Amino acid sequence: VTDISHPAPASPTLLDGPALWPAQAHTPTVLGRQLVVERGAGSWLYTTDGRRLFDGTAGLWHANVGHGRPELAQAAYDQMRQLETFHIFARYANDKALEIGEVLAEISPIDRAKLILNSGGSDAIDVACKLARRHWQREGRGSKKIILSREFAYHGLHAFGTSIAGLEFNREGYGSESLVPETARISLNDPAQVEALITELGPENIAALVTEAVQGTGGVNPPAPGYLEAISRLCKEHDILLILDEVITGFGRMGTMFAAEYYGLEPDMITFAKGVTSGYAPLGGVMVAPRLWEPFYQDSPNTPIFRHGATYAGHATACAVALKHMEILESERLVPRVGELAGVLGSALDNLASQNPLVAQVRYAGLLGGVTLSDQLSAEQVCDDLVELGFIGRPLRGNTIQISPPFITTDSELLDFVAAISQAITERG
Ligand code: PLP
Repeated sequence: VTDISHPAPASPTLLDGPALWPAQAHTPTVLGRQLVVERGAGSWLYTTDGRRLFDGTAGLWHANVGHGRPELAQAAYDQMRQLETFHIFARYANDKALEIGEVLAEISPIDRAKLILNSGGSDAIDVACKLARRHWQREGRGSKKIILSREFAYHGLHAFGTSIAGLEFNREGYGSESLVPETARISLNDPAQVEALITELGPENIAALVTEAVQGTGGVNPPAPGYLEAISRLCKEHDILLILDEVITGFGRMGTMFAAEYYGLEPDMITFAKGVTSGYAPLGGVMVAPRLWEPFYQDSPNTPIFRHGATYAGHATACAVALKHMEILESERLVPRVGELAGVLGSALDNLASQNPLVAQVRYAGLLGGVTLSDQLSAEQVCDDLVELGFIGRPLRGNTIQISPPFITTDSELLDFVAAISQAITERG
């Protein structure tokens, strides 16, 4: 999910390539150049061409407890032997979905949260946006439909995620306005602009504001001081639902279980995925505040229904993996460990910025870092060079290199990664 440049194709035989279409990339650029990962162990990955690479991004910000963990494989095996899954529609539920629901409600920063489960972050965003609109329609305030999202935001690529994308290239090409109409972008960091836009659009037309706490794919952008607090105040003032997208930050990446705690926010919904299983099974979901779910729980024939569900919602094997994964986070004290690693990352990046003139800016929060290069360098190229040094970084919007290793990374591995970035930058520069 990067705004990659389009150099000449690497392979002249594009049409004879693998059947697997690498969509979401410039196909001719990546075909024939893909590194094929076949094994992972801890923070390290092994490719079919014999490389051993440090996973400096935890895959797509997902592999928090590291790769290749037998306990999680065992949890999946045990559950599949017992019951692969059973849907949670109507008269049926499955025991693992019910159990993980309790665990997640218990740790949720939202008091008395209810859980809607599905299969990933894009799914979760679709649910949250649908529920926001459904909420206002049910309240008799159906004009409240607009979903606000921030410049450079990434919320996955299902219907709503595509439509509220702050990275324009992810939004364009699917309709005259966007795939789902009635969305609008707010300023990345200026609450005054947000307030002006709310006035211009009319709060009576706005359903919700969706935001990442720290923007990930948009370039690792921690919020400007006070920004999240200010927009969350505006949401309260104008009766706009606040949806906090914690698909990256949820389950420890800030050194707190959720970014809502880190920034002291009280969202109406929290979307999560990735870190709920560290990617060992596709699971995502939405934590929902009482004001939203209570009307659907009234004991009356007239009680409304929130029509949303899927075969794999609350998939029993994914939920069994998530349960075991929560035990690992707890028993290995990985969330406080992120707090320590965050300190190591912050000082290493500050040193990098002060010592390497080819670094334009560094940004970090929790175990999330971004290194923005000066214009004479390309993050794309530097990340290619990093692979040759044995490290995976990822080029993001704004000529930025993503740093987000697994929580089990050692201090010295993290320092080696930053040193490798410095070396790659210097050698290119
Ligand atoms: N929201 C955020 C903040 C993300 O970073 C992502 C994925 O990177 C998503 C949503 C979409 O999640 P998924 O890729 O699991 O659909």
